[in-house]
Amino acid sequence: MPGDPAYPKARLEFNRRVNKFPRVIVFCRSVRDVVNAVKWAREREVRIRVRSGRHSYEGFSTLNGGIVIDVSPMRKVSIDRHKRIATVQTGIPLGMLYSKLWTKRLAIPAGTAPDVGVAGLALGGGIGLLSRKYGLTCDSLKSVEMVVASGTNSAKRIVADNNRNADLLWASRGGGGGNFGIATSFKFRVKPIRDVAIYRILWPWKDLEAAYSAWQAWFPTVTDRLTTTIDLQSRQEGKIESTGQLLGSADELKRLIQPLLRAGTPIEVSVRTVPFIKAVEFFAESDLNLAPKFKISGTYAFKPLPPEGIRVLRRFLANAPNRHASVWSQSLAGAVARIPPTATAYVHRQARNILELSSRWFKDEEAARNADWVHRLRQALKPYTRGDYVNFPDLSIRDWQQAYYGVNFKRLTRIKRKYDPRNVFRFAQSIPPATAPRTALRKGSTR
Ligand SMILES: Cc1cc2nc3c(=O)[nH]c(=O)nc-3n(C[C@H](O)[C@H](O)[C@H](O)COP(=O)(O)OP(=O)(O)OC[C@H]3O[C@@H](n4cnc5c(N)ncnc54)[C@H](O)[C@@H]3O)c2cc1C
Repeated sequence: MPGDPAYPKARLEFNRRVNKFPRVIVFCRSVRDVVNAVKWAREREVRIRVRSGRHSYEGFSTLNGGIVIDVSPMRKVSIDRHKRIATVQTGIPLGMLYSKLWTKRLAIPAGTAPDVGVAGLALGGGIGLLSRKYGLTCDSLKSVEMVVASGTNSAKRIVADNNRNADLLWASRGGGGGNFGIATSFKFRVKPIRDVAIYRILWPWKDLEAAYSAWQAWFPTVTDRLTTTIDLQSRQEGKIESTGQLLGSADELKRLIQPLLRAGTPIEVSVRTVPFIKAVEFFAESDLNLAPKFKISGTYAFKPLPPEGIRVLRRFLANAPNRHASVWSQSLAGAVARIPPTATAYVHRQARNILELSSRWFKDEEAARNADWVHRLRQALKPYTRGDYVNFPDLSIRDWQQAYYGVNFKRLTRIKRKYDPRNVFRFAQSIPPATAPRTALRKGSTR
């Protein structure tokens, strides 16, 4: 609570642009703690936010004056190697989860930053360097244990899997964190893993157009065992970087990246075989030492960007508010696209790649200029890209319902009505409960 010595740190989000002062933060150690916290809040009509890794871009896991229910002390993982199932408490950060699974030479497809929470990541989708082969994190999700609001003032634990509350499992696979209740545990299907091959190519900034156009033409043609990224940095920063991970050998990877190497004049190329856990560390490195405040938006390319689209990227990065601005893309499709858009709440199955538009800064007075740059870039890309990933939320998107969920939005509102009819779990872009259908059942109906 405010006044506690631990409060100043406990209230912080990863994005220091967010600066909220909750009335109380509850660090839960058990499902019972979570149930009690929800009941306490409901009895007193205190607004609730749910928190795991604190990485929400827009700070949706905190608020002024309400209760933050934080599951981060809940980090247990148990692994059934025989059945290839891991039961994972939702407070664990990704780095720790990768390490625990690695002790059994297992993995789930997940994101790159080690301190992102598995809860927010998996509930919104979860993209990473195994996506093209094994899909999104939520595609490995078999079941969810969740504390939901019940009755007028209460809370209860339920399980959603293919047999029980299957609609809630559907919604938990891409519907976004914080909407339906508090996930306390996940069961994931896990994959065996050993060595992987990784690459890194650096180009000078002048090769931006050549590198991006080669990358986007190339990645759909290679095996799904290879997932790749390209990071277009600001002109001040001066570099273009592509990285990728292959479930295969360094020799094979060297062959596969040849078309990329023919673009522009790469200044650095490295390809090597490493144990999977070293690759996790390699990809995590790029997230360190960033400016602490940021504005990020996301969007998807369903077709290759035409030359005019790539020129938009170049123009914005040539006129970035500071050196920390960048446009990062990751290849998708593969296993992600083999699941139909309505089979889970994650709708953007047919996208070729995702784009993350980001700007970062240190001082508050820089905020408006940076946020405006991201906003204008998003608008300028509209002819070529569409939608947004719910895990890259952006408060300036007016039609966020469509952007995040497309055709799945209505179904999500019906599921919301079933599990949280009183809208206990809400925030600026949360899914509202559907209004009652006009043909409500009459009292005494036998149906
Ligand atoms: C540095 C960085 C790197 C990233 N890299 C990737 C990446 O590689 N791949 C990718 O797909 N995404 C990535 N992301 C985006 C990330 O997936 C989202 O920010 C995600 O929502 C973070 O989850 P969290 O638990 O850390 O955050 P939180 O801020 O704790 O939560 C995010 C949302 O989930 C809700 N939530 C949290 N815990 C629970 C719970 N137990 N039950 C129900 N709802 C809950 C919150 O209320 C909030 O709405 C990255 C983000 C950052 C900042």
